[in-house]
Amino acid sequence: MSRRLAYVLVFKRSSSYSITPDQLRAIDMTKVGIIGNGVAATSAIRELKILDSEVEIDVFSDERHAFYPKPSLMEYVGGLRTEEEVIRYHRDWYENQGVNLYLATPVTHIDAGIRSLTTPSKMFTDYDSLLLAVGSYPFVPPFDGLDKKNVHVLRTFDDAIDIKNAVQGAGREIIVGGGILGIELAAGIKRIGGDPIVVTNVDKLLPIQLDGGASEILRMHLDKMGVTTLLGFTCQGVIGDDTAAGVVSSSGDSIDGDLVVIATGVRSNVELARKSNLSIRRGIEVDRYMQTSAPRIYAAGDCAECDGEWYGIIPWALETSRIAARNMIEHGSARFESFTSANTLKVAGIDLTSVGKAHVETPEYEQTISVDREKGTYYKVVTRDHKIVGGISLGNRKVAMRIRQLVAQNADITEIRGSVFEPE
Ligand SMILES: Cc1cc2nc3c(=O)[nH]c(=O)nc-3n(C[C@H](O)[C@H](O)[C@H](O)COP(=O)(O)OP(=O)(O)OC[C@H]3O[C@@H](n4cnc5c(N)ncnc54)[C@H](O)[C@@H]3O)c2cc1C
Repeated sequence: MSRRLAYVLVFKRSSSYSITPDQLRAIDMTKVGIIGNGVAATSAIRELKILDSEVEIDVFSDERHAFYPKPSLMEYVGGLRTEEEVIRYHRDWYENQGVNLYLATPVTHIDAGIRSLTTPSKMFTDYDSLLLAVGSYPFVPPFDGLDKKNVHVLRTFDDAIDIKNAVQGAGREIIVGGGILGIELAAGIKRIGGDPIVVTNVDKLLPIQLDGGASEILRMHLDKMGVTTLLGFTCQGVIGDDTAAGVVSSSGDSIDGDLVVIATGVRSNVELARKSNLSIRRGIEVDRYMQTSAPRIYAAGDCAECDGEWYGIIPWALETSRIAARNMIEHGSARFESFTSANTLKVAGIDLTSVGKAHVETPEYEQTISVDREKGTYYKVVTRDHKIVGGISLGNRKVAMRIRQLVAQNADITEIRGSVFEPE
């Protein structure tokens, strides 16, 4: 029972108060505070409002912009979206649902005991439950020369605006990191007339999603687009005087460039939770109800780690925030069971899926691969006891969907092994 309802019952027992039905409804509301305003926060708002249209919600964001989906930032840098088109929910979306939105208002402390929040200007109290949806931040290795001008990371809309402006005056753009973010960004920069090069310290692109063969096909595609990729380049620092003039590797090789973007992964934002004495692992530790180590304080999205599982992708944020929202209204009403990380995306305009176990390391797994360099396609399925447990599809959306479906069904492919890469 929420504290507000408890007050009503006390008032009702003392006959000196008369309460109108409207007041009763107002007092009976559950009050929720959400820290962060990304996809986990907005999906939680939607779910909370479905479950209880009267729930009172305060949302705090340290950013000055209202909600935008992060993939739109790539489209913005690549000239496919204007600044105005990046924002998905403007202030009126929040107002229409009666949600109080506090922009440019970082939460600096949580009192987990009384569930209050501190911001630079004010303390907010009386929450029935809180949701930490504070996301992640770019991990930047300790390179030399990071303080020079024109060294960037890409996480927020403001970062994207800065990068796009910097590309206008740059001759060559160096992207350090060959993951999805680095490659997508390079493709976007190419689209607006840049000359990007992606460098990575490992021997393939997208090392989490792809194997060596798929990486080669992707490099072929990128090369045709005019995006150069360089493998095995262990960046050690940014060179130049006050402004970036290139990067240097640990073996002393250098690459000239006037803009450096570091895209070497992300880490959960755990600082606020740590300062507030919540339990931390790689992310903020939550149980299967998405509750942190403090009662009625929940976490979801990139910042949350559940039973050792952690992902920095939108499907994880959607799944965990819906569970958290349900439990914020009625604790125990939703439980996390399992999550299969499936990345189905367009990387630089090329359809890519990497699902389940996409890499074979031990003999109990078998793999079937089909490569067509002419068409630029690469397909792979991984099986165990003839049942499909993972796969990769690069270059064909229909095959990607089929592989995803078969993995989801853990299908036995003995009968269809010869035709498994034919789209249905
Ligand atoms: C450029 C880019 C492209 C991406 N593309 C894809 C994609 O194609 N597919 C995919 O699945 N994933 C993609 N991702 C990852 C995806 O965006 C994240 O998994 C997702 O945004 C996580 O959502 P979240 O709500 O947990 O965190 P976030 O979206 O990071 O939101 C957290 C918010 O909390 C705010 N915040 C943090 N601390 C505080 C505080 N103390 N007080 C107030 N506010 C605070 C942050 O500023 C931020 O606005 C991409 C990421 C980036 C950066």
